[in-house]
Amino acid sequence: MHNLFSGMIHRMFMGRCGYDELSRFLALSSPVPFLLAIILRRTAGGYPSMFLLFSAMVLFLWSLWRAFSTGLYYRRKENEQFINSHFYISVRNTAVRFSQRKEYAFFRCPECRHWLRVPRGAGKIEIRCPECGSRFVKKS
Ligand SMILES: [Zn+2]
Repeated sequence: MHNLFSGMIHRMFMGRCGYDELSRFLALSSPVPFLLAIILRRTAGGYPSMFLLFSAMVLFLWSLWRAFSTGLYYRRKENEQFINSHFYISVRNTAVRFSQRKEYAFFRCPECRHWLRVPRGAGKIEIRCPECGSRFVKKS
């Protein structure tokens, strides 16, 4: 049963782009404007909600269209651009910091804005930035 199902999925995506990072990001972010529309419906209503619902739909359909696209060359190029974009890198780094928040404390160097990670529970410590060498005191 499981093999039959995965075989079906495999055939469905044969020669198609599938869910790469960009499509996955679009699909995962599509509920955000949708939920905002529901929250804002009572206060804003009308056009703002309609616009949000429309953007949610666009994001979702865009991800679906990319996943089933046969223009592999162009989709791969788009995806590469997306992966290397400042935006995606900062989203990923934020996700990593969030997943490690229990074991590590994260600070930004006051001089060069570089992100620094220190183990939690060490109390008040002096942190030396490996990027620019400046020192500052924080509670870990
Ligand atoms: Zn620094």
